[in-house]
Amino acid sequence: MKVPMLDLSEQYSTLRGEMLEVLDEVMTSSRFILGDNVKKLEQDVAAYSNVPFGIGVANGSDALHISLQACGVKAGDEVITTAFTFFATAGAIARCNATPVFVDIDPVTFNIDPRKIEEKITEKTKAIIPVHLYGQVSDMDPIVEIAKKHNIYIIEDAAQAIGATYKGKRVGELGDTACYSFFPTKNLGAYGDAGMVVTKHEDLAEKMRVIRVHGSKPKYYHHVLGYNSRLDELQAAILNVKFPHLNEWSEQRRKIAVNYTEKLKNALGDKIVTPVETEGNYHVFHQYTIRVENRDELQKFLGEQGVSTMIYYPQPLHLQPVFQELGYKEGDLPITEKAAREAISLPMFPELKEEQQDYVVECIAKFYK
Ligand SMILES: *Cc1c(COP(=O)(O)O)cnc(C)c1O
Repeated sequence: MKVPMLDLSEQYSTLRGEMLEVLDEVMTSSRFILGDNVKKLEQDVAAYSNVPFGIGVANGSDALHISLQACGVKAGDEVITTAFTFFATAGAIARCNATPVFVDIDPVTFNIDPRKIEEKITEKTKAIIPVHLYGQVSDMDPIVEIAKKHNIYIIEDAAQAIGATYKGKRVGELGDTACYSFFPTKNLGAYGDAGMVVTKHEDLAEKMRVIRVHGSKPKYYHHVLGYNSRLDELQAAILNVKFPHLNEWSEQRRKIAVNYTEKLKNALGDKIVTPVETEGNYHVFHQYTIRVENRDELQKFLGEQGVSTMIYYPQPLHLQPVFQELGYKEGDLPITEKAAREAISLPMFPELKEEQQDYVVECIAKFYK
């Protein structure tokens, strides 16, 4: 049996008729940039996130960068985040010529450890970017409290967590802005690059709308430095077709996670660590990530059995060559570094069949027995 990490083909075949229709509509209309499809998606995703404003941008990385810029983050400022994330989180900070300040993670959730944030705050700290890794919201209550106390912004990196909730609140309403990626492999994926910022703040929304069109307002008059970062109509039309299915897809992911966890526990007990949904959280399982010993050997073995897996992420950001000048060394973030050695993500997408899930479990059990 072959079990891919992700297979988007079945989803497309069920939506194909509708997709071709909306694409034809866009092309017939000849309106490709910032038209009705983008407007609709912005309204729907903002409403879904329980906030009034959505700003479609070119990708999730720009969503982070534009958020930081709108919050006034500039050269010499510091922004606190995690090193156990995709590069874009810290890349966006560095693109503002600001300094990423890395805090270690919670060993259970892989998210930033709120107990370790306050010691890293200085007069230069302008924002915190919690990353809701793998689809589970960071522990936001203490983060919100710290941000209030020190008067700093919270920018949620929600690229992996659209639809997730924390103590009854949705991703997007927990911070000052929240950043979504619609990269094709994300839970709500376009057929190309796309992203969005949502926010409850009208002034930030207005700034971000201006930044994504070269800082132009009115047209051809520039008071701030922006660039070209827009979500285009074709991608928005595709996302408008997919968006109504998002909740059912999240539910399906959660079912797969329950099945994986139950069967892995039955087969292996405490030999591996399965993901934990912490109390008050609705995890949307962008990834189903376990912790194991001999991770690289396991990955190789599974590959030979036809099971694809991924390592998110093998090299923490504080040890990336590009951030060498920040002066971190091995051992500075021990929990992050351990996670980078032990984490492995299993195949996960809504259409993954139960027999495929069971086969993945069987192969893992075989390896450890
Ligand atoms: C995917 C991702 C991003 C970047 O999104 P792009 O749309 O690829 O630019 C940022 N942060 C995290 C955690 C991601 O997973």
